[in-house]
Amino acid sequence: MELEVKAEAPQKPALKLADYKTDYHNDWCPGCGDFGILSSVQMALNDMQLEPHRAVIFSGIGCSSKTPHFVKVNGIHTLHGRSLPFALGAKLANPELTVICTGGDGDGLGIGVGHFVNAGRRNVDFTYILFNNGVYGLTKGQASPTLKLGMKTKSLPMPNINEGVNPLFLALASGFTFIARGYSYDVRHLKDLIKQGILHKGSSYIDVLQPCPTYNDINTKDWYGGEDRLDPATKKAMPRVYKLDGTGYDPVLKADASDDEIQNKIGLFMGKALEWGNRIPIGVFLKNEAVSTYEMRVHERIESYFTSPPGRRRIADAQGRSNADLSRFFAELQVT
Ligand code: SF4
Ligand code: MG
Repeated sequence: MELEVKAEAPQKPALKLADYKTDYHNDWCPGCGDFGILSSVQMALNDMQLEPHRAVIFSGIGCSSKTPHFVKVNGIHTLHGRSLPFALGAKLANPELTVICTGGDGDGLGIGVGHFVNAGRRNVDFTYILFNNGVYGLTKGQASPTLKLGMKTKSLPMPNINEGVNPLFLALASGFTFIARGYSYDVRHLKDLIKQGILHKGSSYIDVLQPCPTYNDINTKDWYGGEDRLDPATKKAMPRVYKLDGTGYDPVLKADASDDEIQNKIGLFMGKALEWGNRIPIGVFLKNEAVSTYEMRVHERIESYFTSPPGRRRIADAQGRSNADLSRFFAELQVT
């Protein structure tokens, strides 16, 4: 009797954390919160065993927008405030890609805010990680759109004259369907938020509280950690940041939620998003499963979209000549 020997498919070795790190020089200031966020991104990708060629990170301009240089996946460092249209374009051209955007509060909520609102409206399946430090760090600490009214950081000659925008509210109003907040010095918690954001089918916004020790001397690591207020009984610091997990807060909005449930959940969301000062919640604020993705809506109009998206189509022949057939277009322009 002959035994049939089946060749086993060779197993790919597991990807290690080091596989997501580059050796480019990093010029962030010592102690910058950006380092924790960078580690969380690398850890999340490693936990998910995402193959580097299947992911891409986009960024705009600013300290945090250097992130794509330090993560060994595809990376595109774009223009100030313009990372989102680049990212959405890449995702729509190749819906199999895992698409992530990284950037600061000045980049995303100042010059880029129009793109922020319109990205939320579409619900394309991607993840936006915003490094929120209240200042424009790269250009020496001017007040950014999230710095609150009346605050005077050490880089401002006078207190901030503008009201700060609430990014969680703005994400909700724009239509982002996964909204979370992390803290750059709680790397493992942030890593889990990033994984959840990537796995969510739709537009995910993750606001990350990121101390800038060089220019923001108010929202510091010690301030978030409550080092300035000791518990009278224990003499220990009373942290301002606390986790929503375990408080009974439920962020999930099911596809079949009634109008009453939606209103109730949005009310709870707003209550939590307004908390600031003494108690600052981090965690998942909203996971809305009731909205279809933009890709699904395209698929409903163009049946072949997922099997033959733009990124998979041949655009030139072997000689590099364009395949585009413009004959109908020219026929329309013909003057008779
Ligand atoms: Fe980080 Fe601030 Fe330095 Fe920029 S200026 S690298 S945000 S500490
Ligand atoms: Mg900033």
